[in-house]
Amino acid sequence: EGVLYVVATPIGNLEDLSARAGRVLSEVDAIAAEDTRHTQRLLRHLGVERPLISLHEHNEAARVDQLRRRLLDGEQLALVSDAGTPLISDPGFVLVRELRRSGCRVVPIPGPCALVAALSAAGLPTDRFTFEGFLPPKSGARRKRLEAGASREETRVFYESPHRIRDLLDDLASVVGDRQVVLARELTKTFETLLEGSANELLAIMDADPDQARGEFVVMLAGAPVKEASADDAEGEALLRAMLA
Ligand code: SAM
Repeated sequence: EGVLYVVATPIGNLEDLSARAGRVLSEVDAIAAEDTRHTQRLLRHLGVERPLISLHEHNEAARVDQLRRRLLDGEQLALVSDAGTPLISDPGFVLVRELRRSGCRVVPIPGPCALVAALSAAGLPTDRFTFEGFLPPKSGARRKRLEAGASREETRVFYESPHRIRDLLDDLASVVGDRQVVLARELTKTFETLLEGSANELLAIMDADPDQARGEFVVMLAGAPVKEASADDAEGEALLRAMLA
């Protein structure tokens, strides 16, 4: 029976590749990769040689038929992205959806994911959270998304690139003011840094030390304060109790 293994790869530190991930990558018939040159470097590090198939946002839909045929022929394939877990702000969703619709077996090989790594070290509530991925690049659309979620009580998590990290912090400052933000930068890499403060405080840190604006970021925003029951709620409740009695 053919199987597609969805394999998580490191987000920086190569030691984070699991033993199981390494074994699967060495055993499959071929590896579908977001950027074959990037994945080739990982394979070389592992001493693994496997055929690579490029699969990125622009050819994903077109690749589905070809990969489905190989699975139906009984091949074992792996899907990887450049870093972390495929499908999490990375290609693979269309492929996995279509293969599952065709009854193919899809097996996750779990491992690094910047979202989970960041939350695990931030000290913000994690019982509930919303993953926002990348916000739209244009400021108007970005603010709209931030405003739409401003009153949510759970932690919200964003991915951001170094080009736009200041813009995101600017928008956060204007939409949520002094609310606590935790920035996880360059996780698992040499310059890994966790910073927290209001968006404006974090911008001031970047002004003082521009290196703090370099690299890859996970931005976590504390939830809105949980609403206290208002006087109206209390009155309504008293009335309801009286009626029930
Ligand atoms: N699939 C990946 C995962 O599982 O986290 C995410 C891929 S997405 C294209 C890349 C974004 O993930 C970056 O812009 C950044 O927001 C976040 N990211 C990836 N690696 C990171 C790291 N080492 N430190 C902080 N953020 C990282």
